[in-house]
Amino acid sequence: MLVPCGTSCPARASSVILRERKSRDVGGEQESVQAETSRRRSERRYNSYVAHPDVILHHLITSLNGPCQEFEGYVGKLDLDKVEPESFRDLLKFQQQNASVALSLEGYNASGGTEHPPYHFDFLEVTRGIANAHAFQHDGFAFIVMTQPLGELLLNLTFDLSQSPPVRQLFGISAAPVDRDGVHLALFQLQFDFLLGHEYTHHVHRHCAPDETLAVRAEFLQEEEDGSLEQQAQELDADGYSSYLLLANLLQDENRYASVLEGLGHAAHRSAASDELLFTAFFVVVLNVFCAFWRNRTEVAALYKLVHPPPPVRIKNVIQVAQMFAGQNGPVEDSWFQSSRFTELFRTAAATIPGSGRQTWDAQIALLRSPEGERYAQALFDKFEAARKKAE
Ligand SMILES: [Zn+2]
Repeated sequence: MLVPCGTSCPARASSVILRERKSRDVGGEQESVQAETSRRRSERRYNSYVAHPDVILHHLITSLNGPCQEFEGYVGKLDLDKVEPESFRDLLKFQQQNASVALSLEGYNASGGTEHPPYHFDFLEVTRGIANAHAFQHDGFAFIVMTQPLGELLLNLTFDLSQSPPVRQLFGISAAPVDRDGVHLALFQLQFDFLLGHEYTHHVHRHCAPDETLAVRAEFLQEEEDGSLEQQAQELDADGYSSYLLLANLLQDENRYASVLEGLGHAAHRSAASDELLFTAFFVVVLNVFCAFWRNRTEVAALYKLVHPPPPVRIKNVIQVAQMFAGQNGPVEDSWFQSSRFTELFRTAAATIPGSGRQTWDAQIALLRSPEGERYAQALFDKFEAARKKAE
């Protein structure tokens, strides 16, 4: 099962791990660090020798993977040629290429015109089954990385979804002779894209510290209590923007629209029913991934110190963004967003994950509905709105 980023060392307890480079602490050397960074960027631009981002990434990981360091338990860049079995190797290679192409073609509108270093996406080899995703800037590149166990986890989660009778019934494919791999891969791609878009948002919305300071965002943490409302607001922003981009891609890109429908065993015809099916698929995979990384935190005081908001808050935010998207683009009626539908979607998405107990959900909902919980939610929303206005 899940083995998220272990954190026996206090230094690893934060998802945003700040590491001021030593030389920056030594008075006048700060300028020389900036000059050095600038020189290396110029060299990269004008010299025939270009340092490949995967080489830079591997060097960074291997230089910071000692005890209590940022990448403890990480081995380095994953050698995709050595991944077994072959089907998983091919899938990771496809994702690596696909993500790289998507990030290199990223439209001006998607980034909101934000200037940022070139992106590099990669998978990492780790020990102890660490399932995690990270975003950080380093040495002139904006890195997005996922560990191999996270890829395996997403593959397993979506396999279980694809085999689940209630999920298949939701998609209207329970009785049809369906290509099981098609359903599985369509769901895997949606879940993967949601996480990729989340990490991407951390870069384009400037949640990642600039190059000179290494700040590694980690999505899945054992210990969540070293955060702040500001970090939580950024996580809501990343969920929301990723949801918006994914829904826009699903509903507005004709090829994607057709391929997901066909993967789910339906004819690739544009219709109101097809639009609703894609919305349903989107929510099933997103609710499922939130359930998979559920953390049982039910103390009021801890809410303000979390790194990521509790899943019910994140889910509510994603529903609001999807509703806003539907309102602007009209693929589904507002009445589609009734709470009974989401109770059903949540139950179906959670049922495939052993141990994602009803108790945790109930306790967190009860807490968030208490006066203290409502005060927290309002404070988080205010922080989110303030950050959004500042970014405009
Ligand atoms: Zn995040």
